[in-house]
Amino acid sequence: MKYYLMQIHKSEIGSSSEYANNTFNLEAACPACKTGAQVIAPHKLKDISATYNRHLFSTYTRDHFISEMIFMHLQNFNINTDSLAKCVNQKGATIPFYHLRSDFIMPKPIKNKGFIQYDGHCLTCKRDHYSRVGKGGKKFGEIIPFVPEDIEITYLKSTLNKINGYDILFTFHCFAKSLLDMDGKIKVLPKPSLIISEKVRDAFTNFGIDYVKYWPVLFEDSHTPETGQSEEYVNTTIKSDNNKPLPTIKEKYESILEQVEIIRYAINAEQLKSAQFEIVKIIPTVKLKDEHRHIVFQALRVFNDHMKKCIKAYVTNENKEVAMRVLSISVRGLATSVRLFGIEN
Ligand SMILES: [Zn+2]
Repeated sequence: MKYYLMQIHKSEIGSSSEYANNTFNLEAACPACKTGAQVIAPHKLKDISATYNRHLFSTYTRDHFISEMIFMHLQNFNINTDSLAKCVNQKGATIPFYHLRSDFIMPKPIKNKGFIQYDGHCLTCKRDHYSRVGKGGKKFGEIIPFVPEDIEITYLKSTLNKINGYDILFTFHCFAKSLLDMDGKIKVLPKPSLIISEKVRDAFTNFGIDYVKYWPVLFEDSHTPETGQSEEYVNTTIKSDNNKPLPTIKEKYESILEQVEIIRYAINAEQLKSAQFEIVKIIPTVKLKDEHRHIVFQALRVFNDHMKKCIKAYVTNENKEVAMRVLSISVRGLATSVRLFGIEN
């Protein structure tokens, strides 16, 4: 599978996330600057009336959105749309758009041409304050779409195993400088760029979208030491260990079952969350045939949903047993789908 970094060549419209009264999930966010915070769905959008004739657009606040029509088109192309979030307007009414987002953050690339990081970035996560080298901006009151000069982004080849199953990915790099107000509330949230699979690119092209530039993402066997960069993962991702052979499907299945035991005897929500974290880490490493992908991801969605309910039951101390029973069925379903549909690398 090939991957591309996408860049929309049309002016931005409307505001999103921090400018549109959204609430954030801070689980994957940097504790210092909150880069990596995720909007809790549905995603509120503001001032987008002009977008009704657009099927793919980016807001001034650098989030990407697609129309419901493209969303359905992506599904026809067998693209994993699990991470996409529905949108609402400022009054909370559903609007026919989806936030184009990912649950997977790519590691820091081993080579990077075209993105530069300015001084003053967050020293904890080092993810914010990136910019693309290129031309565009405001001229005589007119907004000229930004066109990057040249982007070449290279990851370790082993990253390919980890992103298998994902069609939409976030970059490590986030654009804009993070800014919090005195109370620690997000004022400016740096946003990542999007990396998409060949399947998504083909679906966009097939739909007639002709204003996106796709920069091929490169994967290399080993990294060049002179860059001083290594493959670092953020939060929800796995550190690579090149010396170890990749786990087999049976081993992945068994690691999920190990977590099932932990879930069974969990005494608090934290233990549930950490088991969920371990399980969710495994799924993207499972290689699947296209026709089976939606089954496994559906099982993952059901598991995540039941886990959410179970965590809530643990926190409120209500209906714990029922929530736990439902969860243990869905986690076993997920494990079985990995065992049945996973193919060896
Ligand atoms: Zn930070």
